[in-house]
Amino acid sequence: MSAEERINSQCPPKQRVEGWGRFPVSQAQVYSVQTESEIFRLLATRQGRQLLGRGAGRAYGDAACNQDNWCLDFTPCNRFLGFDAKRGIVHAEAGVTLEQVIEYFVPRGWFLPVTPGTKYPTLGGSVACDVHGKSHYNLAHFIECLHMLLADGSRVICSAKERSELFWATVGGMGLTGLILSVELRLMPIESSYVNYAGIKAKNLEDIFRLFEETADEDMSVAWIDCLAKGRNLGRSIMMRGQFAKKEELKTSDRRQQPLPVIHKPKVTIPFDFPEMVLNPLSMWGFNQLYYGKHPRLIKTVVDYDTFFYPLDSFLKWNRGYGKNGMLQYQFLIPPKVSFEGIKQVLEAISSTGKASFLAVLKKFGNLKNKGMLSFPTPGYFLALDFPVKNGEILKHMEKWDEMVLKYGGRLYLAKDSRMRAETFAAMYPRLKEWKAVKAKVDPNNVFCSDMARRLDLIPKTTRGIKKTRLGKRVKKTGPKK
Ligand SMILES: Cc1cc2nc3c(=O)[nH]c(=O)nc-3n(C[C@H](O)[C@H](O)[C@H](O)COP(=O)(O)OP(=O)(O)OC[C@H]3O[C@@H](n4cnc5c(N)ncnc54)[C@H](O)[C@@H]3O)c2cc1C
Repeated sequence: MSAEERINSQCPPKQRVEGWGRFPVSQAQVYSVQTESEIFRLLATRQGRQLLGRGAGRAYGDAACNQDNWCLDFTPCNRFLGFDAKRGIVHAEAGVTLEQVIEYFVPRGWFLPVTPGTKYPTLGGSVACDVHGKSHYNLAHFIECLHMLLADGSRVICSAKERSELFWATVGGMGLTGLILSVELRLMPIESSYVNYAGIKAKNLEDIFRLFEETADEDMSVAWIDCLAKGRNLGRSIMMRGQFAKKEELKTSDRRQQPLPVIHKPKVTIPFDFPEMVLNPLSMWGFNQLYYGKHPRLIKTVVDYDTFFYPLDSFLKWNRGYGKNGMLQYQFLIPPKVSFEGIKQVLEAISSTGKASFLAVLKKFGNLKNKGMLSFPTPGYFLALDFPVKNGEILKHMEKWDEMVLKYGGRLYLAKDSRMRAETFAAMYPRLKEWKAVKAKVDPNNVFCSDMARRLDLIPKTTRGIKKTRLGKRVKKTGPKK
């Protein structure tokens, strides 16, 4: 038996691999890795296959997919390795989830400094996407250092100070510079796990922009936006703003005695793919009317962290609600000087298609300084909207929206993307050349690759293959010679 045949016979069978949006679908061999020695062995025996670290699969598109190659599932690498209680720095393996961090550290008075709208991602995946949330910052801002395994088998530590090129290429670098083995992250001290919450109604886009401009950077904020509203109601929204409550601000004695509870809410699992007509423009119009209509002009209350940060986590597998062809999230950012005009124009284009988004989120990044070469968070406003793929008609609309976003100097978020063209991406990310230079230095043979990397020409084009998508269309794909 040749070495190649021996490895093939020990390989797990190919399996379906997809992102949270379930579009597109890919086939890869998935290895669950638990120890560093297993990871080293796979790197040494890969026999020409390309590898990709994979976390909880919460990126929407093809970032964690690796057609016909190997995905290394890091979720079993989920141990805490240390905690510096004085500085609040946790050292954890890459497969530790945000939920694990919360469950262990909330009772001890610490919270994640940045969290996306779900607690299920891993730390490794969150670093690779350089996630953002309701707070003002991106995750990279709080990373002390990363422990990585590079393509040549070397184990290195990188940070904003040490091997800083590698660090800034890795945060937001979508797993393509090397494998993140563990992360040292600075947590945020909290006195209580409750949030002083304000829900404020905005009657249109001008109004919500005004509210964001008045919001201090220390406040955590985001707005739900009614993407079906038109004319003078265009952009009507509800701003959700909050700050962790101090112990003395808690009103009831129960809460004051136990200010740091971990919240476990009952969950509903979406049991099967919804028929595509369930989430249609009419049902969403009804929901939006009701949600906006019933919301008072201003509510002030105290809520637990789970209600504030993770309302979507109450529904497990909610991505099934978009039907069997999956969904796409369109998340774009427009820089400060033209944020209002840019967001308005794209929103008008979206609402004129009549394509409704159940989830529609608007957020401002203030003057944040981010050195991540491919990181999404930069100053400006972003809007994120979910659409079912259905018959694929939405893809044509998105191509048009891309042109508008580009015209305003904006960008799309890689963690949510599965369809942008390579040229569009290159025009949106001016530091791509710099990133490619680091990639060429640390991974000259492109050991680390993904479907996203092939689609966006993040690795050099060696061959072009043909890939069949779930929609049955044959689309061209760039990829390595197999
Ligand atoms: C409901 C929902 C809400 C969300 N809200 C937000 C939000 O508010 N803000 C935001 O920024 N994002 C948001 N996201 C996106 C999500 O937070 C990120 O895509 C994410 O953190 C993915 O982590 P993961 O563990 O699922 O990684 P995966 O999806 O498995 O992988 C994502 C990327 O990380 C790489 N990767 C994973 N592990 C490693 C490793 N050990 N070494 C090297 N590379 C690795 C993969 O190769 C891939 O490129 C949301 C997603 C969902 C489903």
